[in-house]
Amino acid sequence: MISPVLPTYARAPLSFVKGDGPWLETEDGTRYLDMGAGIAVNSLGHAHPKLVAALEGQARRLWHTSNLYDIPGQRALAERLVEHTFADTVFFTNSGTESTEAAVKMARKYFDHAGQPERNRIITFEGSFHGRTLGMISAAGAEKLTKGFGPLLEGFDHVPFGDMEALKAAITPQTAAIMLEPVQGEGGIRPFPEADLQAIRALCDENGLLLILDEIQTGVGRTGKLFAHEWAGITPDIMAIAKGIGGGFPLGACLATEHAAAGMTAGTHGTTFGGNPMACAVGCAVMDEVTSDGFLDTVNRVSGHLRQGLEGLVAQHPDVFENVRGEGLMIGLKCKAPNADIINAGYDAHLLTVPAGDNVIRLLPPLNITIDEINEALKRLDQAAVAVEETL
Ligand SMILES: *Cc1c(COP(=O)(O)O)cnc(C)c1O
Repeated sequence: MISPVLPTYARAPLSFVKGDGPWLETEDGTRYLDMGAGIAVNSLGHAHPKLVAALEGQARRLWHTSNLYDIPGQRALAERLVEHTFADTVFFTNSGTESTEAAVKMARKYFDHAGQPERNRIITFEGSFHGRTLGMISAAGAEKLTKGFGPLLEGFDHVPFGDMEALKAAITPQTAAIMLEPVQGEGGIRPFPEADLQAIRALCDENGLLLILDEIQTGVGRTGKLFAHEWAGITPDIMAIAKGIGGGFPLGACLATEHAAAGMTAGTHGTTFGGNPMACAVGCAVMDEVTSDGFLDTVNRVSGHLRQGLEGLVAQHPDVFENVRGEGLMIGLKCKAPNADIINAGYDAHLLTVPAGDNVIRLLPPLNITIDEINEALKRLDQAAVAVEETL
């Protein structure tokens, strides 16, 4: 008999009732070290006092009014995002996939508004993940996302990851935009080389295309910069964010330059819940923390330590691990043994990690994790590797 919750997730046999920083606790009080942070969502760990205070304060004042009215929290959060990024304007959503959808709609509308409605195709990369709406599974294109859900949305051209020649060849007079994740997350923590990002920005400029970045996973400090594209010294025209910006409260956004947003006039797009007062109160608190003095310096110092420790584990367990990749606190451990076995052995060591494509384990801890907690995670990952070695 089908379970009351639709069985679309292959869930681990674990359940948590409370959290505190990078720790999660089960009903019986067992504590797990959370190096997945809800898939890069709990950017400041569990139950951060400033986020709790922001949410509680807002919950006592006002929950929802709808976008029929001005929402002061939206303005406050948009101002923070505009101040700290390339963007001039922000549309708020509740999730990642709504943010990439908004980005694609904005790009199409831009060309329609400019009198070139035939320019409506978007180039995307194999191995990408942009969310689960019909539009965004069509954008990513992988069979494991799309099978059985056709007909898909027209207008996406897929090119192999890292193939700059194929990318150039895919640009036609119908192309509106190129969309990519600076570091592919679900695809296995695969970073675009900085030189490729710079070349893609130049290609967009030469061909009058919009560059859409999906920074839903890479954004909000995850890679050691506020946004991952800053490492390459480029800026997008449109950017989708979500995950970390809400710190665990559902919140996403589509950021854009004034130029790229030209077609998005009143009535063209909307959402009931997007930019809800409680979401924005938490979002402001997250932004204030992540942009505070020295925060990202600490992320970079701590991530260097984690990286070094992981390189050590790869050297110690060459039959289990292959290499370390990624940026900042968005780290992939490419495995030789099946990644699921190592993740399960991690559960036995009370350590939580996240699988990704290409037989990778993702480490996406809270951005405010300490060196001591990193050392504890390395110790537990070592235990997991030893346990897996014994089965090989
Ligand atoms: C998680 C993710 C999404 C989808 O976000 P949802 O909130 O699940 O809709 C899209 N793109 C990337 C890069 C992601 O990591």
